This record gives sequence, structure tokens and C-alpha cells, in this order.
Amino acid sequence: MRKSNHTEGGEVQKQKCGVCADDLISDAEEDGDKNIGCDLCTKWFHLKCTEFAGLLYDEVATKAFLCSFCE
Ligand SMILES: [Zn+2]
Ligand SMILES: [Zn+2]
Repeated sequence: MRKSNHTEGGEVQKQKCGVCADDLISDAEEDGDKNIGCDLCTKWFHLKCTEFAGLLYDEVATKAFLCSFCE
């Protein structure tokens, strides 16, 4: 999966979750609110809105992630 990266100087684009359509939070503290990106398309999701809900973000970061639109 892709992790959200904060490039210095660049403005973080407002992204919406591909599942619930709520705004993604770039500096979320709760793992479930953190953002993960599909490996195939450009969509982003809350961790809690994916099949990885309930897992630790650091754990999910090591896995491949295809969103429900791509798998
Ligand atoms: Zn969501
Ligand atoms: Zn996808």
C-alpha cells in the first residue's frame, strides 16, 4: 500500500475516503482514521473503512492493499 506522505512545502491535497466520502485526516492520531492508498488506483481510504479495520497502521503498512474497486 501507499502511505500518505507529507512533502515539505507542498500543500496537502484534500482527499476524500473512497468508501465513506468523508475527508481524510492527514495527521490522524487514531490508527483507524489514518489514510491508506490503493496499490493500483489513486484512491485513498480511512484504515477503518477497509478490510484492515482494527489492525495497527504500522502492521498494515507492510501489506499489499487493493481497494474494493480494484480487487
Ligand atoms: Zn472512510
Ligand atoms: Zn484501487
